[in-house]
Amino acid sequence: MKIWLLDSGSLVIDQAHITWNLGCGNPVRFPVYSVLIEHDEGLFLFDSGYDLEHVQEVLPFELPEQTPEQTIPAQLALCGFQPSDVGTVVMSHLHFDHVGGNKHLPDARVLIHATEIAQGRNCEPFERLGYSDHTWDHLDANLVPISGDFEVAKGLHLFETPGHTVGHYSLLVTPQSGGAMLFPFDVTYTRDAYERGLQPGFHVDPVAGVRSIQRIKDLAETHGAEIFFTHDMEAWGTYRHAPDFYEV
Ligand SMILES: [Zn+2]
Repeated sequence: MKIWLLDSGSLVIDQAHITWNLGCGNPVRFPVYSVLIEHDEGLFLFDSGYDLEHVQEVLPFELPEQTPEQTIPAQLALCGFQPSDVGTVVMSHLHFDHVGGNKHLPDARVLIHATEIAQGRNCEPFERLGYSDHTWDHLDANLVPISGDFEVAKGLHLFETPGHTVGHYSLLVTPQSGGAMLFPFDVTYTRDAYERGLQPGFHVDPVAGVRSIQRIKDLAETHGAEIFFTHDMEAWGTYRHAPDFYEV
């Protein structure tokens, strides 16, 4: 199994969004990336980054920086693939910075938690910006609603980790060779937040969010997994970026 981390560029938010209520007034630039996995059962993409045009139009205050090389088609090309090679896209959740590349993958089947689909279509008023990119939801989209903990393919496990959003999933990769990899996506944004047990300022259910952080800690311990943090610039600098990859 080969695993690539696809760079989607970066955005800026206030520190208080990264560590709920703490550090207000400090803008922080953070990375956005997705996870491409070549597996015996097909080519899987977990999340798809953000769409530059959408962010420039709807959330320009997040100061997007994304080069043409940091789009999904360009990142796939770096790994030797084209968009039509991706058979399955899995959404951790439907926030704009996780679904922006879906428009380049119109034929893939798209696995999403059933409650997340409902929320994405009819969210709370305070969630509107988060769910502002609706390009995942077109008439011909092959959306596959799922629920509960779910094995996408052998060794690719989704775990329900709500709080940040209602239908948020985390990914645990358990290769036969060992060396488990855990992607908590937006349960916590950074290593610092994770270690301090702090969820993002943006959440729909903070009690569920606390429990989901504990769930990630339990999974990491049980499987001896390395955690890959989603929006942590310092950690991102230590990871392998496409076309470099992890082979497990
Ligand atoms: Zn999010």
